[in-house]
Amino acid sequence: EAIDLVALAQRVVKRTQMMTEQHQLSVKYEADHLIVNADSRRLEQVLSNVLNNAIKYSPDGGVVEITLTKPLSKQQCLIAIKDSGIGIPAQQQARIFGRFVRADNVHGISGTGLGLYLCRELVERHNGRIWFESSENVGTTFYISLPLVDDINM
Ligand code: ATP
Ligand code: MG
Repeated sequence: EAIDLVALAQRVVKRTQMMTEQHQLSVKYEADHLIVNADSRRLEQVLSNVLNNAIKYSPDGGVVEITLTKPLSKQQCLIAIKDSGIGIPAQQQARIFGRFVRADNVHGISGTGLGLYLCRELVERHNGRIWFESSENVGTTFYISLPLVDDINM
């Protein structure tokens, strides 16, 4: 079904912000509407998984920046979720989307290691991609790209 990613992101960010007073979520939108062909409940699940990680693996007072951009060259939109948290150690980055995989710097922060596995599964089912850049003790940015629905076919 055709859904507006901007509206969906706003919903998830609002809901996630209500669950924490310790972190500040800031959102930047480059477009008013970004229409993607998606299962909205699944896509909400992906976004909330990544947002919850950004909060969970950041110290209190941390700011999480969400940006939605529409690159000019391709019919793809990009969601970036940037935190200034504990980061993912370089030697564990290659495996982090695996089932039950957790990094060794999580120190008492609970989790099952399934969230990102599921996220990648769901994003790829939408013909999208998910990846990240991370430095330990500096922070992590997750990126999700999704194909946009052609305006002409709307
Ligand atoms: P859950 O299944 O409940 O989500 P989880 O958060 O441990 O548990 P994933 O969401 O799959 O599992 O993440 C896997 C691992 O990747 C985490 O345990 C953590 O080590 C690392 N990780 C994920 N996101 C971040 C982040 N934003 N900053 C630092 N580490 C992260
Ligand atoms: Mg998680």
